[in-house]
Amino acid sequence: MPEQMIVTGGLVIDPARKLEAVRDVLIEDGRISAVAAGLHRKPSLKGVPSIDAKGKWVIPGLVDMHVHLREPGREGDETIATGTKAAARGGVTTVLAMANTEPVCDTPSQLSFLRAKARTDAAITVLFAGAVTLGQKGEKLTEFAKLRAAGAAALSDDGRPLMNAGLLRRALEYAKDLGLLVIDHCEDLSLSNGACVHEGPAALRKGLKGTPWAAETVQVVRDIALAELTGARLHIAHVSAAASVDAIRAAKKRGIRITSEAAPHHFALNDKDLPGYDADWKMNPPLRGADDRLALLAGLADGTIDAIATDHAPHGCAAKSLGMDLAPFGVIGLETSLAVALTDLFHKKVLTRRKLVERLSSGPAGLLGLKAKGTLAPGSDADVVVVDPDAIWTPEAPFLSKSRNTPFAGRRLKGRAVTTLSGGRVVHAL
Ligand SMILES: [Zn+2]
Repeated sequence: MPEQMIVTGGLVIDPARKLEAVRDVLIEDGRISAVAAGLHRKPSLKGVPSIDAKGKWVIPGLVDMHVHLREPGREGDETIATGTKAAARGGVTTVLAMANTEPVCDTPSQLSFLRAKARTDAAITVLFAGAVTLGQKGEKLTEFAKLRAAGAAALSDDGRPLMNAGLLRRALEYAKDLGLLVIDHCEDLSLSNGACVHEGPAALRKGLKGTPWAAETVQVVRDIALAELTGARLHIAHVSAAASVDAIRAAKKRGIRITSEAAPHHFALNDKDLPGYDADWKMNPPLRGADDRLALLAGLADGTIDAIATDHAPHGCAAKSLGMDLAPFGVIGLETSLAVALTDLFHKKVLTRRKLVERLSSGPAGLLGLKAKGTLAPGSDADVVVVDPDAIWTPEAPFLSKSRNTPFAGRRLKGRAVTTLSGGRVVHAL
């Protein structure tokens, strides 16, 4: 007998199949085997363990294509085990872990080690990016074909920008031949100059050094030109500035193969929300101006921004207590991304529920070429989330992440994951 489970009576939202209707979802041996009305009444399915989803949404698990799990090298801040438990709690069932670990994930053996570690430690699916350049130094390209053979799901030097345009051009040409996505962290270091917040009135009032929006946009515009020149796919990480959104929209209209993502903190907050000098609000790129935030909302609504990704970046309390100037950049986000998206995009009518699920799940699954993820179509992996869109809650420590550096602590949110299944196994239940 196959191992079976049935999720009954929920509103199934599956953008990939344009499905939005009350259905039962049958899971067999870790895969979706049927989505239909009234399955639970079938005599042959009597006695199958069930999850009651009446009054809730049932959606494909979230695919977060921008996550830092800190393993190896900084296991005090996060591990594959703790990061994936945090993900499961937030309804995230697939993550792409970035390569800026210590050491950097830039060789096939490093990738194989990490994938083996994930097989034993991870609560959900973990994919790994390989670095674009050796040691992320921006000098010599890694061996893309060997990284792909070892299981690299994408290529990125994220955490650092690729400052050398000629090198990025060659990277795009090689990656194109191999069908790998290059993800670029767009930041001109000569413009950002280590500043900790957005350059604008809020920075001036606080006496903090600001980085201008143009530090991002000049690199986005350069990347668009290189994507056009090479015909390769290029994905822009954590877009934060209005001018970047405009440039990406225009490039997409011209048929250039560029895609992008936005992080919950960037579309939910702006630089005026920054309370005092709390480094739990310090991230790169920083919270931008009010108009930048509105541009992100418009980009999410019209598809200029393809995906919501957290840039989950755990740092311990000691590092974050160094203050705005000295603390490291980054905030955690896996436990709150779905809830913040529901609160600030769905309940505020920026996105329909179908578009919301698209940006969180099927969109990023498509960018990474994951055929069995981001949908509840029969045959897909049984990564399923039961969502209560109206549950009111307040994220507070303790978090399942080893770190607690989030600007959303204490913020009232509306909506959350009630139950998360990864490959048919319950990995989170409220
Ligand atoms: Zn980054």
